[in-house]
Amino acid sequence: MSAPTDRGYHHLVRPQAFLFDRDSTLVHDVPYGGNPDRVRPIPGARRALAAVRAAGGRIAVVTNQHGSAPGGLRPADVVAVHARMERMLGPLPILEFCPHDDVDECTCRKPHPGLLLRAAARLGVPPSECVVIGDAATDVGAALAAGMWSILISAPLSSLSTIGEIGEIGEIGEIEEVGGAPCVAPDLVRAVRLALDGEFGQPVDRGTHGSAGE
Ligand SMILES: [Mg+2]
Ligand SMILES: [Zn+2]
Repeated sequence: MSAPTDRGYHHLVRPQAFLFDRDSTLVHDVPYGGNPDRVRPIPGARRALAAVRAAGGRIAVVTNQHGSAPGGLRPADVVAVHARMERMLGPLPILEFCPHDDVDECTCRKPHPGLLLRAAARLGVPPSECVVIGDAATDVGAALAAGMWSILISAPLSSLSTIGEIGEIGEIGEIEEVGGAPCVAPDLVRAVRLALDGEFGQPVDRGTHGSAGE
């Protein structure tokens, strides 16, 4: 076991539940992606999910979808895409999605915490034992609002603008409470590895971001 603090992260125990964003995290994003035939996994996704299952981690998918898609995105479309994902990636037993538009001001759409809290409740895992893994500031904001840990998947350059975005979300997501930028990993496989090793959480030193994934 390596010494996480040497790498700039607080040591945490391995989370019980892994809540994954869907689009651009597990599968490539396609506009209004309600077509199962267009599902394309992110490289490494099958392997990353298998590692979580092998370690006994519980898995949920939490995704914002668009109620404003041309012709309307039906819940059945989201379920069909999910079924296709399971055939390609293995069992993903919990799916929670928000079908509302932003203007609906629902309480489930990330960065609101509702989706994540519903998933945690269905898993029977307390929020403090959950980690959210996603590619967007809204994933991190939702995790903070839900009292969960988070790992942001972001290439080093784009993470700069993403973290700037988080600063704005902080106004409603209480990011100030935990003091700044979240844990960042360069890709899904390394995000999962950080979580399984318990090497994540709030960076002690922002300067260590770039070395988090080696
Ligand atoms: Mg995403
Ligand atoms: Zn919603």
